[in-house]
Order: sequence, then structure tokens, then C-alpha cells
Amino acid sequence: MTEITREKLIIIGSGPAAWTAAIYASRAQLDPFVIEGSFHRTMVPGGQLMFTTEVENYPGFPDGVTGQAMMEDFKKQALRFGTRSVMEDVERVDFSGPPHRLWTSGGAELEADAVIIATGANARWLEVPGEERLAQSGGGVSACAVCDGALPAFRDQVIAIVGGGDSAIEDATYMTKFASEVVVIHRRDELRASKIMQERAFENPKIRFLWNTVVTEVIGDEVIEKLKLENRETGETSELEVGGMFVAIGHTPNTGFLRGQVDLEPSGYIHLPSSWRTATSAPGVYAAGDCMDDYYRQAVTAAGTGCMAALEAERWLSHG
Ligand SMILES: Cc1cc2nc3c(=O)[nH]c(=O)nc-3n(C[C@H](O)[C@H](O)[C@H](O)COP(=O)(O)OP(=O)(O)OC[C@H]3O[C@@H](n4cnc5c(N)ncnc54)[C@H](O)[C@@H]3O)c2cc1C
Repeated sequence: MTEITREKLIIIGSGPAAWTAAIYASRAQLDPFVIEGSFHRTMVPGGQLMFTTEVENYPGFPDGVTGQAMMEDFKKQALRFGTRSVMEDVERVDFSGPPHRLWTSGGAELEADAVIIATGANARWLEVPGEERLAQSGGGVSACAVCDGALPAFRDQVIAIVGGGDSAIEDATYMTKFASEVVVIHRRDELRASKIMQERAFENPKIRFLWNTVVTEVIGDEVIEKLKLENRETGETSELEVGGMFVAIGHTPNTGFLRGQVDLEPSGYIHLPSSWRTATSAPGVYAAGDCMDDYYRQAVTAAGTGCMAALEAERWLSHG
């Protein structure tokens, strides 16, 4: 029979939200146990920042910091106050408690009085040749214009934005501050973005649209040089010289294993019943970071909500 380990507080995830929650919880002597996640092609312990090079917008780092160094330091800071952790996935949960029950990919069964979910989200990629290599090497391919768009490499370049929803049009408008031209590449002949955003984008002289078009390859050795394109209607192929590409086709929150256990939005993000609170629909279960936030999606907001979740869990544990 599997031995069941009882914990006071389990934190699921290991991005900025999870480690911030762990720093607060361990300093408050809640003895948190972090289940970090394991290594997958599109997600690793440390979270989304492990896939980016330079982080320039996190306060406290005047010279910037690499995503990996930053996440190593987040973890070190949490371990310093006694946080324990394991690199496994949570595969299944039963939140009918407390105690709540969790099952991990390592075969462990655990119980917890409180749980903080900080499992983040995965940016969707095009999955075409060249894209992953140049995204991981910092070669001008990214899934976050607000994060990376202001980097010097993108200044005065032709920048491609792939997508047709609100995020894509927001990214396109944002990139007109830096780029010489922004080319929105969209697979359909009309945008899904709100009418007002569309109108602003159509009026912007720096933005050009390529309709019914898909990217089939990203070309460049060290840095992106051009895109191979295909028109979906005519089948015609072409090339576009660019100095950067931002993929803005959405995110998938890592919440599949929670279905039926906490309320989720139709989009899969965790539903939080009260604004400015991280409590979920299950008592003693909190959510922080990109798994519940489809709007801000930044490291500093993830860390902020990690702090909120730890403070709420602490109150729950002392009064519950
Ligand atoms: C290319 C790129 C560049 C970016 N650059 C910046 C930037 O410069 N500045 C900025 O502020 N933001 C940036 N962001 C956004 C930022 O990375 C995210 O907003 C932030 O990482 C969200 O933190 P999080 O803690 O919510 O989750 P994530 O960082 O997504 O981490 C989630 C964690 O949960 C774990 N996990 C998932 N499922 C399970 C499970 N079932 N069991 C256990 N663990 C699980 C994963 O292993 C991962 O460690 C960037 C994002 C991308 C994609």
C-alpha cells in the first residue's frame, strides 16, 4: 500500500508565482512542500522564464538578468527558509477535503490542509522549422512582445506578428514604437480582435497585413533573417525579410489535471470567485500566476499573486 504523506501546505509549480508563495510561506513557518513539475519539451521546472534570455522589466535588476539565473535565485531564496521541493508533476487531485489529496508522477500520494496552484500557462507556438531553435537561443523569435519587444535587437527592424486576435493586434500596435514596419500575418481574411482595436491598427501607417497567410519556416542561423510564407487560398509561397517574429496565437493554462476539482473558466483558466483574492472555488485551495491570469501574464504579477496566495493560505491555516 502507498504511504500517504501529510503536508500543511503544498505549492504546485516552480515559476515566479510558486517560489514567491514558497518564500512567504516558509518565512511564516508553514513548512511548504513545492511540487515543481518535471521536464517536458515545452515546460520545465522554473517555468516560462527558462525559455527566455534577457529579462529587463523585473524591478531590482538594473542591468537585466537571464530568465534562468532569476529562477535559480527565486528557488534559492525559498530553500533558504526551509522550503522542500521535488521535481515531479501533480497528475491528479481530489479537492473534496480538507485534507486535499494529490497524486504525483513519482507515484507519491499526499494530503494537504491547503494548496496553492501556480502551474502557469504555455504559450502556443507555430511548430514550424527554425522557430523553437531561434526562440530558445534569443535569435529574434518570441511569444511575448511586451516582455521582449523593447530589446535593442528589434529596433528599426521589420517585425512580423503572427495571429489575429486581441493579443496579436495589441502586440502589433506596441511594436510600432520600435519597429520600422510591423507585418501582421494572419491565417484568415479577417481579424478576431475587437472592432476598436482593428480600426486603430488599420489606421496605423506602420502596420501592414498579410491575409490568408501562414508561416511555414523561420530562416536564420544565429538570428532570424526571413520567413517562408504560404497563401492558404492560392497555395502561392513567398519569403519575407524580417528582424523579429512574435507569435501571438494564445496560451494554454496548465490546468487540465484540475478539471472537476476547482471551477475553471471556459478558456481553462482557474476561476477566482472574488476579485483581488486568490481563493478558488475549493476551500483552502488558492491559485496564483498565469494559471489564473489571462490578462497581465508577467513575472512580476505572477510573483505578486504568489505572495497574495501565501498570505491567504496562512490566514486559512491559522483560522481553519
Ligand atoms: C518567451 C517568453 C518571454 C517572457 N519574458 C518575460 C519577461 O521578460 N518579463 C516578464 O515579466 N515576463 C516574461 N514572460 C512571461 C512570464 O514568463 C510569465 O508571466 C511567468 O513565468 C508566469 O509565472 P507562473 O509562476 O505563473 O508560471 P510559469 O512560469 O508558467 O511556471 C509554471 C510552473 O508550473 C509547473 N507545472 C505545470 N504543470 C504542473 C503540474 N501538473 N504539476 C507540477 N508542476 C506543474 C511548470 O513546470 C512550471 O515550473 C515571458 C514569457 C515567455 C513565453
